[in-house]
Amino acid sequence: MSAKIQQHAWRARHPIKIVNFCFLVVFLCSTLLTWREIVVLQNGWTASQKNRIQSVAAALDRHLQYSVDKLQFYRAAMQHALSSPISTNRTDAALAQFDQQRQSGAWQIRLDTQRGLPVNGVSDDRVRQNPLLARDEQRLENELIAALEFGAILQLADPQQDRQRRTFYTSRAGFYLSSTPHAASDDIATRYHRLVTRPYFHSHTQRNNPDRGVRWTHAREANRQEDQVVTASLPLDYQNQWYGVLAMDFSLGTMNDFLNQAMFRRENGEILLLDNQFQVIASSAEPVPAGSVFSDSERERLTREMAEHNEGGALIDTRYISWAKLNFFDGVLIRVYSLKQSLSGEFGSILLVLGLLWALFSLMLLGSWYVIRRMVRNMFAMQETLQWRAWYDAQTHLFNRGTFLERARQIARRCQQQQMPLCVIQLDLDHFKRINDTWGHQTGDKALSHAASILRQSLRGDDIAGRVGGEEFCIVLPGTLLPEAAAIAERIRVRLNSKEILVRQNTTIRISASFGVSCAVQEGDYDFEHLQSIADRRLYEAKQAGRNRVSSSDG
Ligand code: GH3
Ligand code: MG
Ligand code: MG
Repeated sequence: MSAKIQQHAWRARHPIKIVNFCFLVVFLCSTLLTWREIVVLQNGWTASQKNRIQSVAAALDRHLQYSVDKLQFYRAAMQHALSSPISTNRTDAALAQFDQQRQSGAWQIRLDTQRGLPVNGVSDDRVRQNPLLARDEQRLENELIAALEFGAILQLADPQQDRQRRTFYTSRAGFYLSSTPHAASDDIATRYHRLVTRPYFHSHTQRNNPDRGVRWTHAREANRQEDQVVTASLPLDYQNQWYGVLAMDFSLGTMNDFLNQAMFRRENGEILLLDNQFQVIASSAEPVPAGSVFSDSERERLTREMAEHNEGGALIDTRYISWAKLNFFDGVLIRVYSLKQSLSGEFGSILLVLGLLWALFSLMLLGSWYVIRRMVRNMFAMQETLQWRAWYDAQTHLFNRGTFLERARQIARRCQQQQMPLCVIQLDLDHFKRINDTWGHQTGDKALSHAASILRQSLRGDDIAGRVGGEEFCIVLPGTLLPEAAAIAERIRVRLNSKEILVRQNTTIRISASFGVSCAVQEGDYDFEHLQSIADRRLYEAKQAGRNRVSSSDG
């Protein structure tokens, strides 16, 4: 019986489990799909970020390459002039002028007033004071002639078109030449001192620049606004001697403007040009952030990633950083995109719509899951009630007549097949009409329930019992022989008769029943209706014989 109840419960729970499972799968699939969409979207967005920074880097590289090319051209021109110096009246005059002035604190010589830029210098003493400088008499004349010639070429440079603020040559022999000339009265000594103490100059010693290539330096320490420059410089060597440095200054304003133009929309984040120490050189943002925009740990992480890839991107806290290293610059171009900026852009709105759709779908799913679950549960509860009612008698909770007969026939068939004995007990409560008449129908009902519960308690594993009439019951006992069945009937009779039923306060009654037992044995008649009629006949006999007894044989 309990196994049957469990089976019913399982059947009722199983569809709920299926419903739960289905909804869970749909929910997981929708979440997975949304997640996948977001990942694809994010990859696209990341790729576009990389493309954007790459294109800016390529444009900046083009401009820088132009300048580097020019520096290299100037160096080649100077080296050519050093290898074959020309000697004219003008150069002789200029050199004579130098000889006269070289001991004075500052001097200026030029080819003539129309052609070439002036060469400005300091005294021999000043040169001796700085260990980086050297005025070698053997090479000095040729270098001065080359510088004067170079002045004629540099005069033609157009700073507007070239983006650089000025181009200049600083010699280790105590003189310099600049594309932005000044009067001799200006403080030449201070200017020269500044030129040779700036980082670009000492970045070209043999030790600092063994491969003698272009160096990009940023004069961070300069306090004067006009000295805030990025300098591209190239050493001038000839016959294994380091003569000086050719350099170009780019104002930070020019760099900022360039980055600003590269950013055509404000919400696209900021582009920053960083030097190799991660210090901001230039930025598209106004005002330009000072110093470093990264913490030490962020810098470490970026340095690690940048060491492996020339371009890429990384999510750092709430900022997305894409970078591209420059070919012609000793630094990196990065684009900083804050979470707020990315969410306010196209990516953000698609993400928002996706998120909302997912939330809406999940909410609808949750609602329908709740409704369907309830419906399925109610349906099964109803089905169970209906099924119970179809099988059982509501008053006694025993099988009703129809179900009982059906089951009894099945058992009879099985016993016949398996050649097992089968007994039937038919019982009828005695003088039940009298109980009804004396104590009322309610007491009658109570007595019926009482009798049914005693029957139920007396059943063994395979036995079944049913209410086959008003106060008539039948029990089927498979695998039981007649004496055993008669004993069982006797036991039930005693129990039924020994228990008192409370009918009123202080009033109890006892009921009794008469029993008829029949049995089919091997090769006997297993027809249930026939067995029942025999049991009925014996029951009648028991009644005749005085009731409250078991009859298991005829006559
Ligand atoms: P006996 O069988 O000993 O010959 O006497 P009896 O009084 O039991 O005889 P009978 O079979 O004629 O009466 C059966 C009575 O049982 C008639 C009916 O009023 C009563 N009865 C049948 N079904 C129910 C029921 O569901 N509830 C109640 N209270 N009484 C019922
Ligand atoms: Mg009867
Ligand atoms: Mg009766």
